[in-house]
Amino acid sequence: MILSQFQTVGHDLFTKGLVSSHSGNLSIRLGERLIITRRTSRLGCLGESDIIETGINKNDRNTPLASTELAVHRAIYGETTASAVVHAHPPHAVALSLTETEIVPIDTEGLSLIGKVPVLGWNMEVKPGGLADIIAQALKKHRIVMVHGHGSFATGQLLEEAHNCTATLEESCQVICLLKSLREGVPKNAPKK
Ligand SMILES: [Zn+2]
Repeated sequence: MILSQFQTVGHDLFTKGLVSSHSGNLSIRLGERLIITRRTSRLGCLGESDIIETGINKNDRNTPLASTELAVHRAIYGETTASAVVHAHPPHAVALSLTETEIVPIDTEGLSLIGKVPVLGWNMEVKPGGLADIIAQALKKHRIVMVHGHGSFATGQLLEEAHNCTATLEESCQVICLLKSLREGVPKNAPKK
């Protein structure tokens, strides 16, 4: 049951191009424990051995097997009421994270579902598992945040919900990028309407 939720969301993220072969990670909270994807697992084809259970506050023998972003997932569960976290690398959102400090959707779906999305980590070194407290604090007020030049962290009560926020952000960012390229593509001497 839990494995099939991870498989469905992982496969969908991969086929939509929101993660590449070995990037991204997923987790759910189970009381004081969490279930998270294994370090270097491939979200597009998760198997039973790719799902690791460990403590939110305590390490155990499974901890070293968990995703390199474990510290961020733990901090999010420590600071928010989320029960699921999705970390992905949506390409248009990553592109905008390199030029914006906040991503504001201009499509109605994006604006109503995710609202303004802060871009965290400007002028900071971004390493796997880094910025955990900053990301967790921001997710108290936002359903999804971007890390500068890296990727998104989304929360929900279900993996599906966090996945939906991630897909919505990427769609909104595609619209922003398309609009920017349309505006930039207009020749200077084109007749004005
Ligand atoms: Zn990442």
